[in-house]
Amino acid sequence: MQYRFTTRFGGVSQAPFDSLNLALHVGDDPLHVKKNRELLQENMGVSKLVFMDQIHDDKVVLIEHGDEEMPTCDAMITEHPDIALCVMVADCIPILYYDAVHQAIGVAHAGRAGSQLNIGQKCALAMQEAFGTHMHELRIFMGPSIHACCYEVGEEVIKGFEKFVHIQDKKYFLDLQHYNRDVFLELGIKPEHLEISKECSCSNHNYFSYRRDKITGRFAGVIAL
Ligand SMILES: [Zn+2]
Repeated sequence: MQYRFTTRFGGVSQAPFDSLNLALHVGDDPLHVKKNRELLQENMGVSKLVFMDQIHDDKVVLIEHGDEEMPTCDAMITEHPDIALCVMVADCIPILYYDAVHQAIGVAHAGRAGSQLNIGQKCALAMQEAFGTHMHELRIFMGPSIHACCYEVGEEVIKGFEKFVHIQDKKYFLDLQHYNRDVFLELGIKPEHLEISKECSCSNHNYFSYRRDKITGRFAGVIAL
């Protein structure tokens, strides 16, 4: 198994998408995005990268053959040995899953909306159903994403997240990483199998951040068997 979280470096896109933008939907030159994806694929040494058309929903798609083109969903799972699953982000949490026992992987796109729909949990449960994954054996990696230091939210969206909101000067800051961590622990994931990146995509300029830059690229969480 190999996995990585890309940064904004090493690609061919021009500003404001410089340089390893992996998303076609943000206004970048599609030829540059294609080249960036080829570079990533070569780097991973797999026959194909599978991306999602992400819509902040809670649908999980099983990738069986690797010939599926851009499924519309926010999570994917597979036991196919020669493809890499990719989740694109610029502040949302890229979540990667690895079941070493059944040799299966997954990815999920967890922003505020997706987290509220428990997309992270649903992806793990989809692996349980499809591959017999046991929660106590599943490893989970949460990549660089916007942290509470930068993630100010309106009072109207904190319902359900109350435990994970820091209040400072009458402003609300959401800790989405620990919300998801709690959900995973409740599901039976072992704390030592949960890895959370300390990098905040909004404060660390090595990553694309929608909150910081609005018009920008997307980096990715990528995993392959
Ligand atoms: Zn921050």
